[in-house]
Amino acid sequence: MAKVEFKEALCKGCALCVIACPKKIISVSDRSNEKGYFVAEVNDNSLCTGCAACATMCPDVVIDVYR
Ligand code: SF4
Ligand code: SF4
Repeated sequence: MAKVEFKEALCKGCALCVIACPKKIISVSDRSNEKGYFVAEVNDNSLCTGCAACATMCPDVVIDVYR
């Protein structure tokens, strides 16, 4: 199964990955990192196809996709 991991310390909560995901399984959480940004997270990893659209879109290279 594909898996997505976020390097949360680098996330700025811009939500570009939320828009990019064709499965609509990413959202910006209510947890903030040490810089004070709300971080993105995957809600249901079982639906992830490993397409890497999220990782390609992220301007801060926060997301690693494993498949
Ligand atoms: S790899 Fe694709 S399906 Fe999985 S979270 Fe990223 S954009 Fe969504
Ligand atoms: S695109 Fe990158 S920086 Fe923006 S919310 Fe998603 S993971 Fe965070």
